[in-house]
Amino acid sequence: MIIDNHPYEVNEQGHLEIGGIDTVNLAEKYGTPLYIYDVKTIRDNCRAFVRTFEELDIKAQVAYASKAFSSIAMVQIAKQEGLSLDVVSEGELYTAFQAGFPKEKIHLHGNNKSIEELSMAIEHDIGCIVVDNFLEIEMIGRLLEKYGKNMDVLMRVTPGIESKTHKYIMTGNEDSKFGFNLQNGQAEEAFHMLYKHPSINFKGLHCHIGSQIFETEGFLLAAEVLFKQIAVWNDKYGFIPEVLNLGGGFGIRYTGEDTPLPLNKYAEKLGAAVADFAADLEIPMPEIWIEPGRAIVGNAGITLYSIGSMKNIPGVRDYISVNGGMTDNLRPALYQAKYEAVIANKANQEPSKQASIAGKCCESGDMLIKDLPLPEAETGDILAVFSTGAYGYSMANHYNRIPKAAVVFVEDGQDKLVVQRESYEDVVKNDLSYE
Ligand SMILES: *Cc1c(COP(=O)(O)O)cnc(C)c1O
Repeated sequence: MIIDNHPYEVNEQGHLEIGGIDTVNLAEKYGTPLYIYDVKTIRDNCRAFVRTFEELDIKAQVAYASKAFSSIAMVQIAKQEGLSLDVVSEGELYTAFQAGFPKEKIHLHGNNKSIEELSMAIEHDIGCIVVDNFLEIEMIGRLLEKYGKNMDVLMRVTPGIESKTHKYIMTGNEDSKFGFNLQNGQAEEAFHMLYKHPSINFKGLHCHIGSQIFETEGFLLAAEVLFKQIAVWNDKYGFIPEVLNLGGGFGIRYTGEDTPLPLNKYAEKLGAAVADFAADLEIPMPEIWIEPGRAIVGNAGITLYSIGSMKNIPGVRDYISVNGGMTDNLRPALYQAKYEAVIANKANQEPSKQASIAGKCCESGDMLIKDLPLPEAETGDILAVFSTGAYGYSMANHYNRIPKAAVVFVEDGQDKLVVQRESYEDVVKNDLSYE
């Protein structure tokens, strides 16, 4: 059964349970669509990375890539679990500040950081800026002078690795909008601007090869390419990196076709490889930083919908429409992402047919799942889609003026609303009258 692919239980009434709570009750209490996170799963995911590095006695920072799901409550969990935090905008930075996240453990990313974003980061003394381009180096230099401050910086490079994943989420290859190119001399030029800069503490290199990666090979290749460059700079200029940041992209299970590694395996393999490369070069082992987003929250979240209209096209397909869609989960429309789901109030029933799950937006592309095996569905049933914890709420939008759904956390048999459902007043709150 589909449910076996996901970390959830079915209770005696045959209802899907999350964090010890009946999802059908949650749908009644908070309405649908509803994002629900099992906080224990989030914590387990954080600990799989943090503890593995600790056990191996490797100095590491596990930075949660908050773009996967940024909210005050989520950032607070990352804080409680001792993670660092990646942000890519003033909005994510502001959320981190509101959550009371330790500023020195925040890293700022982005391929087009604004002067306002950089100022905010520098004014608040965040932990590190990952520089992406020449304009940014110039702006950081000017701002540091203006504020009379110093800043830790990593240089983002594109190692020229193509990971086996969808091309829209493939960022480590040479043809990328992100980072400095290692092959064509741009990284070398940036190195000279950063190394020995009076107010920039150049700590090391960063790369992010892609997302939803199921093997360690790509990460190891990237580390190898980075170390080749480090060897050159070490030889020529005596450069010794304090930090090697290998990015995020650790894969999770969306459907039975996905075969992720246990999270501790990534940490183990990366740790061993970096130790070997450093030993070969006879330099001290750099700190390893990683940036999991999806692997922290993806499988911890589900989305509940109410089933509305149904349509049978004989000889073609059955459609089941739900009261959400591309407004709360853009990934199927954006990347043809695949999901699995069950009827939460019939989670103990074997599938008897297939149906495709349609969203309610006025777009033919607003389809959540194609040909999903399901038991007989009825209007009013609750559909639970698995593994929607990453890039669901964070990519939610107001298409068709649909208010954003609420987010509930469950832990130890307790449920707690952590993001309110938007109202129609919220949807029009920035509109101004023209009469
Ligand atoms: C998106 C991104 C991540 C997180 O990717 P996941 O696939 O969610 O782990 C980490 N680092 C950088 C630089 C990113 O752009």
